[in-house]
Amino acid sequence: MATRFIWQAVAWRKVLVRTSACLFAAIVAAGLQAAENISVLGNKPQWNVLEHYQQTITRDEFVHLINDVYGTHGFAPDLIEIKDDAARILMNRDAQKFFTLRFAASDSARKSVPRLWRPAKSLSPTKRDNPLSGLRIALDPGHLGGKRAKMEERWFQVGDSKPVQEGDLTLRVARLLAARLRDLGAKVSFVRSTDEPTTGKRPDDFRELARKILIKNGVPQPRAEVLDPTDPEKEHTIRWQSEILFYRYSEIRRRAALVNFKLHPDLVVCLHFNAEGWGDPNSPNLTDINHLHLLVNGSYLAEELEFDDERFEMIRRLLSRAYDEELLLADTIAVAMARETGLPPYAYPTPNSTTKVGSSGYVFARNLLATRLYRCPVVYCEPYVMNSKDVFARIQAGDYEGTRNIDGVERKSIFREYADSVANGLVDYYSSARGGSRSPKPMSQTAPSAE
Ligand SMILES: [Zn+2]
Repeated sequence: MATRFIWQAVAWRKVLVRTSACLFAAIVAAGLQAAENISVLGNKPQWNVLEHYQQTITRDEFVHLINDVYGTHGFAPDLIEIKDDAARILMNRDAQKFFTLRFAASDSARKSVPRLWRPAKSLSPTKRDNPLSGLRIALDPGHLGGKRAKMEERWFQVGDSKPVQEGDLTLRVARLLAARLRDLGAKVSFVRSTDEPTTGKRPDDFRELARKILIKNGVPQPRAEVLDPTDPEKEHTIRWQSEILFYRYSEIRRRAALVNFKLHPDLVVCLHFNAEGWGDPNSPNLTDINHLHLLVNGSYLAEELEFDDERFEMIRRLLSRAYDEELLLADTIAVAMARETGLPPYAYPTPNSTTKVGSSGYVFARNLLATRLYRCPVVYCEPYVMNSKDVFARIQAGDYEGTRNIDGVERKSIFREYADSVANGLVDYYSSARGGSRSPKPMSQTAPSAE
C-alpha cells in the first residue's frame, strides 16, 4: 500500500477517522512550514544543482510536464512563473529568492540532460534470449515486515491462520523476481533484502521530534503511548508519531540515499500489495474487491509544493525526464500484469491526490516519498487486495511451483504470478525500446551493483 502523509496510514483503514485525520495533516504541514519550510526529515534543497539543466528543456515541454503531470492540482502563482524564455522558480518566499531556469530555444537547440541512469534507447540493442542484458534494476520491496509489520500497520490475521504481513510478501516477490531478471541478463540489486530496516535510526530516536510536531499542531500535552490498535487518538501520541517517523520517513529517505549514491540503477521497481480497509487487524474484514494499479511520480498537491524541498525535488525530477521513461515502463508493465492477473484497474475514490496518466488505464501519477526521491525512473506496483477473499486464500497457500487448485481454480502461486508478470512487462518494454536503437552508447561499468 502506498501512503503519502502521516495520517494516511490510518485513513484507508478507518473511514471514520478520515476527516479528522485530514485536518490534522493540514495542521502538521502548516506548522512545519512556518518553522523551516522543509518537509518532515527533508533535506535543504541544493538549487545550484539545477544550473546543470539550463537550456535542456523547451518551454513547451516544461509547460506540458507542469500542467499534465506534476502540477495537476494547481499551486500558488509565485511558486513557478513561466515566461517566454525562462521559468522563475521560488527558492524561499521570506527571502524572495528565485531560481531562473532558461529554456532551450528549440528542440534542436536543447542541451543534453545530465543523469546517471540510462534510458532504454541509449542501451545497446538486445539479443532475443537476454533482453535485459546490462540493465541495472533495483528492487524495492515495500515496508519492513517481520517483527515490525504490526507497527507499520501492514499486518492482519484471520483467526488462527498465518498473519498477513505486506513487508514479508513483497520481499518474497522480490527474491523470485530477482532470479528471473538475472536469467534475462539484468544486474539486479536490492534496496532492502531482509526484514531489518535500512535506516540506523529507531523510533526512540524520534520521540523528541514527535513531541514537538504534536505540540506545534495543537496537541499541547501529547500522550506517550497508544492504548491499542483501534485507539482513535493514536496519531496524537508520541509513540505513533515516532514510529511513523522511523519506518516511513527515515527508512524511505535512507533507501533513497542507497539508490542515489550507491546502487545507481537504471530503474527502481517498488513492490507492494494493496488493501481495502480491513478494520480491526485481529478480526479483519475480507472483501470481494480486488484490483491493480501502478504509480509514477507526479500529481503534487498545492500544499506539498509550498515546501521548498518538495518543490525543488519536483523540478529536479521533471528536468531529469524520468517521466518519459517511467510512464512507458509503467504502462507496459501494467498491461503485462493485467494480462497475467486478470485484475481490473483500481479507481481512486477521489481525484484529490492522483492523476490518471498513460494509455493502459492502470497508471496514476502520485507524489510518494519513494517515487519522488529515487533519482531515476521508478515504477511503483500496487497489485492485489491482500484482504480480498481470493488473495487471502492465495497468500495462505504460500509459494509453490506449477499450479494448484485454489477455490476451484488452477492458479500459479501469487508470488510467482506477481514476479512473472513484472518480468514479462520489463521484457516487453526493453525488447521493443532497445530494438530500435541505432547508435548505442557503450555501457558504463562505473556504478557498483550491490546484491
Ligand atoms: Zn505497501
